[in-house]
Amino acid sequence: MTNEDLANVIFRDITKTIEDYEKMYPKRDLSDNACVTRFAPSPTGFMHLGGLFQALINYVIAKESNGVFYLRNEDTDKAREVDGAVDLIMETLNNYELAPDEYEFKGDIVGKYGPYIQSERKEIYHTFIKHLISIGRAYPCFCTKEELDLMRENQETMKIRTGYHGRFASCSRLSVSEAIEKIKNGEPYVIRFRSNGNFDNKFEFDDLRQGKLYLNENDIDEVIMKSENMLPTYHFAHVVDDHLMRTTHVVRGEEWLPSAPKHIQMFEAFGFEAPKYIHTPLIMKKEGDSLRKISKRKDPEASMSYYSELGYPKLAVIESLMTIINSNYEEWHTENPDKKFTDFKFSADKMSTSGALYDLMKLDDISKNIISKMTKDEVYEESLKWASIYNESLKKMIESNPEYYKNIINIERVQEKPRKDIAKYSDIESLIWYMYDEIFYSKEKTYEWKNITDKDEIKNILNTYVNKYIDLNDKDNWFNNIKLMCDELGYASNMKDYKKNPENFKGNVADVSTVLRVSLTSKSMTPDLFEIMKLFGMDRIKERYFKI
Ligand code: GLU
Repeated sequence: MTNEDLANVIFRDITKTIEDYEKMYPKRDLSDNACVTRFAPSPTGFMHLGGLFQALINYVIAKESNGVFYLRNEDTDKAREVDGAVDLIMETLNNYELAPDEYEFKGDIVGKYGPYIQSERKEIYHTFIKHLISIGRAYPCFCTKEELDLMRENQETMKIRTGYHGRFASCSRLSVSEAIEKIKNGEPYVIRFRSNGNFDNKFEFDDLRQGKLYLNENDIDEVIMKSENMLPTYHFAHVVDDHLMRTTHVVRGEEWLPSAPKHIQMFEAFGFEAPKYIHTPLIMKKEGDSLRKISKRKDPEASMSYYSELGYPKLAVIESLMTIINSNYEEWHTENPDKKFTDFKFSADKMSTSGALYDLMKLDDISKNIISKMTKDEVYEESLKWASIYNESLKKMIESNPEYYKNIINIERVQEKPRKDIAKYSDIESLIWYMYDEIFYSKEKTYEWKNITDKDEIKNILNTYVNKYIDLNDKDNWFNNIKLMCDELGYASNMKDYKKNPENFKGNVADVSTVLRVSLTSKSMTPDLFEIMKLFGMDRIKERYFKI
């Protein structure tokens, strides 16, 4: 009895060979430098920041090199699969404009290297496992969970490295006829890869981020096919899929680095060239003085829904991730403000060697910058889209008078240094509510008076202003009039004079302007008061002033 007999017993129905698949999925017709990358999530839950981070690196590498970026659904862990997870992954990629070139979604297969869903690739995996069995590089293992637990316990007591290796790999010594006998008796089994490594030997592994590493050879006979569903494990599926889909660069989290020796061995067993690897750093956050890994459980910002709910422009999230992907991104972006992030030449060796520190303050800065450069129409559209889902009252404000809203948004926008006060669409309502009479009059509010607090004096200023000095036609005149009023009422119209002899005045022009501003808006800090007054118009200004 030969290994081939064993392979035929286990995979009776498999008639294709690995050569057939080699022909079906030929080397891609791309230029030499073109990179083929993939995002390969397991559909086990929400889309996380770490997922987008991986997807973005893959996307940038592929686009910058005129290569291919594809999506592979790694759904072999059926027990952990979550309904709707795939839809969310696809929706997130599309929303963030990281759409894959090849994918499979709702029955559509786009691309010639599919199926792109692992559970649909069973026949392929079986063909490849059959091949390994027939060349003696894989075998069925009948050890029960109890036996494996006991083995581990013994290894721990004896202080021996745990795992199915060397003399502990008992099923590796079964003869072909013994194995066939057990299979015929209906004993459940998994398939293990037969390692030929020696843990005491090191080999050179080139990680594009970390450079040359010296890793121990793998000597564990890893499970490559699970017994239930006969689906492959991650390790095996990675090798087969990334080979057949002709991936050139595998970008994955650094938690996979310890498994790389297994993967390299499997590529060698098939005689395939391994792809290049980039093991990415963890995303970290600052807590007090120390750094820790961003946690899906503890940190709301770990979930992509956080950014949608708060209304960050997608580009801001992307840019903020780009800054932690490559340390030179920010500089490049400042020098090339009009270029897209996909023009940036990613270099794996410019990734952080420790963790990638994600900072929400930085995101706010990036986002403020992006929103400040948008036109009023763009802000109108995007904020209305956001408000339609997340904020009914802002939606009402916008829709009550779109032109008025756009004009508010336009204050201090079209100028060399536009105002940067909106970091996210959820900031808008609290920045503009006072521009809406219905809200202004019904809301409990505190007037933020500053130096002038005396009610009679405030009324005096407002009356004088409304009766004599109000002028909304021209900004210079408008301000000049305020100064003239200052002179009349005993306030310094000139700050220099005031600083020289403050005792000669009741206050100064800034104090008076603050009264005009606070009385109109209740706020001591607002965008340009002249612009606000123009938007109100004479009647609404008077109404607000009379109500003080
Ligand atoms: N499905 C694996 C994960 O979600 C993918 C790792 C890889 O990119 O190879 O962690």
